[in-house]
Amino acid sequence: MARKLIAGNWKMNGTVASALALVGDLAARAGSTDGRPCELLVCPPTPFLVPVHAALAGGEIALGGQDCHENAAGAHTGDTSAALLSDVGCSYVILGHSERRGDHGETSGLIALKCQRAQECGLKPIVCVGETEAERTAGRALEVIETQLRASLPAGAPPPGLVIAYEPVWAIGTGRTATSDDVAEVHGHIRALLVELLGRSAGAAVRILYGGSVKPGNAAELLSVPDVDGALVGGASLQAEDFWAIASSCP
Ligand code: PEP
Repeated sequence: MARKLIAGNWKMNGTVASALALVGDLAARAGSTDGRPCELLVCPPTPFLVPVHAALAGGEIALGGQDCHENAAGAHTGDTSAALLSDVGCSYVILGHSERRGDHGETSGLIALKCQRAQECGLKPIVCVGETEAERTAGRALEVIETQLRASLPAGAPPPGLVIAYEPVWAIGTGRTATSDDVAEVHGHIRALLVELLGRSAGAAVRILYGGSVKPGNAAELLSVPDVDGALVGGASLQAEDFWAIASSCP
């Protein structure tokens, strides 16, 4: 199994100055530490990708986009293609975040198209799935996640480097996290589904991240749950000290 992945989703926050200060701090910490047990990724707002990429040059911290368009190029005002992300130095792209599904009505079918496009452009997709609080309360969490995952992956061979992020919608930005038992149940279910869809070896190689109010104080417990191969971190990724503390919690 590859190293755990700790990914920071900066969402729509910051300025060029604050973004550069943040990656400067992270790069300095990463540069002075050998043998980190995890891979680090930052996903800044699109306008910051070029300066952040320049600031990260030569280091080990990877760069990712927060979304991409399903088409290759053309008349799509305000959108960003997978090829553009790749051209400015991204190696990952987050797809199907619940804020994209909610704010922009993105369906799992659309996310599968984006995933296909990301794959063609050499980006590793991080495909997000997760249930709402009402769906969990109704006992439908596993069913909802399975339906999302089946429909969000393109047919055919799995995208190289595919990552899945389990993010319970009710845990994102709320300070509430799923219990270790619930995370273990969902991640085990996702793993079994990946093995069914992709085959034993490819399904076992996909990293499954947990996301939803991961903080320095809960990261060690969450990251030690079976089949938790890293974390997708929102709010706490905006502070170098917190993001670093989470990354340092990798077993
Ligand atoms: C996210 O937006 O992917 C996320 C997990 O946010 P937070 O860590 O703030 O809950």
